[in-house]
Amino acid sequence: MKKIAVLGSTGSIGTQTLDVVDKEGDLRVTALTAHSNVELIEKQIRKYRPDIAAMDLPDKAAELRLRVADTDTKVLSGPEGVTECAACADAEMVVTAIVGIAGLDATLAAINAGKDIALANKETLVTAGDIVMPLAGERGVNILPVDSEHSAIFQSIADQKKFLKRIIITASGGPFFGMKREELAKKTRFDALKHPNWTMGAKITIDSATLVNKGLEIIEAKHLFGLDVDHITPVVHRESIIHSMVEFTDGSVIGQLGVPDMRLPIAFALTWPLRKVPVTEPLDLVKIGKLTFYDIDGEAFPAVEMAKKAARTGGTMPAVLNGANEEAVAAFLRDGCGFLEITELIQRAMERHRPVENPSVADIKAADAEARELVREALN
Ligand code: NDP
Ligand code: MG
Repeated sequence: MKKIAVLGSTGSIGTQTLDVVDKEGDLRVTALTAHSNVELIEKQIRKYRPDIAAMDLPDKAAELRLRVADTDTKVLSGPEGVTECAACADAEMVVTAIVGIAGLDATLAAINAGKDIALANKETLVTAGDIVMPLAGERGVNILPVDSEHSAIFQSIADQKKFLKRIIITASGGPFFGMKREELAKKTRFDALKHPNWTMGAKITIDSATLVNKGLEIIEAKHLFGLDVDHITPVVHRESIIHSMVEFTDGSVIGQLGVPDMRLPIAFALTWPLRKVPVTEPLDLVKIGKLTFYDIDGEAFPAVEMAKKAARTGGTMPAVLNGANEEAVAAFLRDGCGFLEITELIQRAMERHRPVENPSVADIKAADAEARELVREALN
């Protein structure tokens, strides 16, 4: 039995991870964490019987403690409780499925404790990849990407990293593919939450509509695979069947295909280096018929270029891009800003920021806070 801790177990990736656990049969869950969803985590505790669990919100932790008092699961409280679950659980692997920079401390704690990481929380690498990757190397920790594109890139590279020339990262294009800025200006959160191919948490669904998600993923790929962002080419692939590709020095291009179902990359990360039971429906290419590819419209969707720029600047700039985006998306989700304002606010935060080189975690958090404050002020 491989023991795993699932951080963010009540979310889209968290619940799909537990579905993979049910299918695989030889994984044991030793820790679960959530933010506020006590009803769901209670059900999960009763089913998986973890040793420990944590709620990020202290009053929710108190409520959960009462609800599961009849079980053997110890309930911890607050961000420190979540971090303790990441480090102390009797787990070999930690699935980081918390959304946003809120997942950074727990990911660092898990790596420091020598746990392998199944990484869904891309914001951790975007903001602190220069700290996370060397630390993982020092601690001998494997980082297995859960993001479907990065799982595809990892699988396509296999053991030929030294021949890697370029990454071709695919993007669905989101719900607003083909639209111009005038049309985008009118889009509401209801429109943006309708993703054509994937059902995901609200934040990443909005990121997919703005294409900020692809920008974040380019920075994530830079850290995971050690290529600069100018060797990572995004291409819109509407069907989300080819999850990404790599080009080698001889011109060969290798990609990974599969149905658009996150349980595939989750199972890959959990069972690597083995492959076990089927976790999705088989891929039927004849039924799909054709696969299509397009360039990204940089005028309508400036986020990809903004992310590349942040990555080239480096230091605290990617944390500013990420922090401004998290704050603007939260505002958009409560009708507090318009769709196009999201990328405009990121732009403004990046223009105002004086980046710190070789930042510490404290510098990164300060840059994140500065960007959030700037967005809040702009929206007031
Ligand atoms: P969800 O919003 O569905 O789930 C987020 C999880 O994190 C929930 O368990 C939530 O608890 C918990 N959480 C939220 N805020 C905090 C906090 N401040 N501290 C601790 N825990 C918190 O997100 P997703 O599952 O969609 O995404 C998770 C991560 O995976 C993101 O980084 C995303 O970019 C990445 N990802 C997601 C994909 C997907 O298909 N969903 C695909 C590829 C990557 P509660 O439910 O109690 O609020
Ligand atoms: Mg992805």
